Amino acid sequence: MGLRVLVLGAGFGGLELSTTLSETLGEQVEVTLIDKKESFFIGFSKFEVMFGRQTADAARMLYRNIVKPGVRFRRENIIAIDPEARSVTTDSNVYEADILVVGLGADYDLTATPGLVEGGYEFYSFAGAERLREYLPTFLGGHVVVGVADTPFKCPPAPSESVLLLHDYLTERGLREQSKITLVMPFGHPIPPSPATSEALLEAFAERGINYIADRLVKAYDPERKVVTLIDETDLPCDFFLCIPKHRVPQVVEESGLAQNGWIPVNPATLETRFPGVYAVGDVTSVGTPKAGVFAEGAARVVAQRLIAQVRGEEPPPPFDGIGACYIEFGDKRVGRVEVNFLSAPTPTGTFTAPSLQMVRDKLEFATSRRARWFGE
Ligand SMILES: Cc1cc2nc3c(=O)[nH]c(=O)nc-3n(C[C@H](O)[C@H](O)[C@H](O)COP(=O)(O)OP(=O)(O)OC[C@H]3O[C@@H](n4cnc5c(N)ncnc54)[C@H](O)[C@@H]3O)c2cc1C
Repeated sequence: MGLRVLVLGAGFGGLELSTTLSETLGEQVEVTLIDKKESFFIGFSKFEVMFGRQTADAARMLYRNIVKPGVRFRRENIIAIDPEARSVTTDSNVYEADILVVGLGADYDLTATPGLVEGGYEFYSFAGAERLREYLPTFLGGHVVVGVADTPFKCPPAPSESVLLLHDYLTERGLREQSKITLVMPFGHPIPPSPATSEALLEAFAERGINYIADRLVKAYDPERKVVTLIDETDLPCDFFLCIPKHRVPQVVEESGLAQNGWIPVNPATLETRFPGVYAVGDVTSVGTPKAGVFAEGAARVVAQRLIAQVRGEEPPPPFDGIGACYIEFGDKRVGRVEVNFLSAPTPTGTFTAPSLQMVRDKLEFATSRRARWFGE
């Protein structure tokens, strides 16, 4: 019998891990990949859907299309994880494994921000992006406040991207002059590890008259009074509230005892948890990199290489380097890029590539290559 690997969550981490194991070990490994959903969406496709640039069907990648030697996909809801026994209970099965890899991502707690459910919007979930696609055409201008409710949050450039794209959207509809756009961020600069990226973003905001409020979180929204209250009790008038909601581990992770201080601690070099044979990758961890798909993928590759070395009796691979690049929508149909090194430099550092049409093509290739590699489409 091959090594039994149970992969919880078919997101960036789970998909990359299963693919690398299958590519290299084929039937030598028994990978069971479990996810409750029927399809995967790349994080940034939420912008495409919310602004009506792509339909949900075009963005969707169906798990049933995964055909890989040694890998079976199960669409099931995970309801309990026992990390000591490496056993997992779903709504229809119980699984036991030699190796357990937790890649269950981050959930959102919309109720942590009073007034958000009642009168606000969010684009971090796919359902939220679809709701916005319906709402945006009905918005007739006013004060838009985009604000972060808590840290950490996925894809730190995404709030900045959203205000630049909103600027274009409102301009195209002839509504920009009667609108005001404010971005509330918990950082002094939009992308702290990369001063050049932050400078370019702040310049883009200034050129477009977008108001940047630094070092603050949003606390609540009052849809009756149309007011957003910040963490320091400042009130902002607001006709359209777009919130980056509080993130948290999925409930099943919380109940498993794997998480400490909110997230699953791992050895940053190896992605091992404190339970033997149990790894965790991606947004569900507190590994020290931002919550982004590229870092989940990079971590998953390290775990895959470790398991391959284990099966082959070889030396373990080099540690996780915490390096990743994100594309940034700069508006005006241009995309920039920031590459950040979080774990293998003394302090996090970033390199900026200015917005261009070439980067638009590169971003498209990023999505196309994942679709081909993970789903064979
Ligand atoms: C608007 C936006 C833009 C973004 N842009 C970028 C970008 O440009 N670049 C980038 O790198 N990242 C980007 N991201 C972030 C990226 O999408 C996430 O960081 C990434 O998906 C994390 O990968 P993961 O494997 O850790 O988790 P996920 O991809 O979230 O996967 C977790 C999986 O676990 C499953 N799951 C959870 N609970 C259960 C359960 N109980 N039972 C069964 N299955 C379960 C979920 O269904 C999900 O499929 C963006 C995110 C947003 C919201």
